[in-house]
Amino acid sequence: MSPATTTRGTVPYITQWTGEQKAAMPVVTRRERLAYADERSYDRDIGGVLWRRVPSTPGKGKPDFGAVHPLRQRLAMAGLLCQVCGGPADRNEDGVLWLMGEASDNPDSWPQGLETAHPPVCLPCATLSVRACPHLRRRFVALRVQTCTLAGVHGALYQPGPDGPILTDAVGVTFRSPAIRWIIASQLLVYLDRFTFTDIETEAEIAATRKTTHGHPQRE
Ligand SMILES: [Zn+2]
Repeated sequence: MSPATTTRGTVPYITQWTGEQKAAMPVVTRRERLAYADERSYDRDIGGVLWRRVPSTPGKGKPDFGAVHPLRQRLAMAGLLCQVCGGPADRNEDGVLWLMGEASDNPDSWPQGLETAHPPVCLPCATLSVRACPHLRRRFVALRVQTCTLAGVHGALYQPGPDGPILTDAVGVTFRSPAIRWIIASQLLVYLDRFTFTDIETEAEIAATRKTTHGHPQRE
C-alpha cells in the first residue's frame, strides 16, 4: 500500500476522500441495541460494535484532510499500520512509534496511560511529517509505546426513543460501557501504556547510519 499523491503532496492513508461519501443509513432498535435497518455481517466488528458504513475508494474525488476514513483508521489502529503510508508502523526494542501532535509543554508530566484515535507511524513518514508540518514541528512528541490496548470507539451516540433511536451526541465510549450498544463507531481508540519519549531526528540519523553500514559491510 502506498499513499495516494496529489498536487498537494502525499495524502495520508487514513484521510477520507470526497468520493467516499457515506450513505444515509436508517437505524432501528433490534435486540435492545442500535442496528442498521438493512444490517449486514460486515457492519459490526470487535465486541459487536456497529461501524459507520463508508465506501473505501481512496483517490476518488479530493482528499478531505480534516476527515478520517473509518475503515482505514480502524485497520491502521488494529493492525498497527502507519497512518500516513499504510505500511507497518515502526517498532524497535522500545516499542511502536507514535507521533502526538498535542504535546503538552511539559511532557514529563504526561501520565503513563494515554487514550488516542491517532494510529502509529513508520519512521520515514514520522520524519517527513515533522519536517513538513509546522504545527507538528513546534509541538509534537514522539513516543515509543510498549503496550497498546484497544480501548473503545469514538462515534455517534444514540438513545432509544418512542419512534426509533435518537441521535444524542458525538462521544468516545469504552468497550465496557453499556453505551457501546448505542453507538455508530467512526474511529477506534487505543490506550497507550508503558511509553517513553524519543527524538525523531536522532532516530532518523541512526536509521540512516545503519542503512549505510548495511549497504557497505565492514569487517569488525
Ligand atoms: Zn509510513
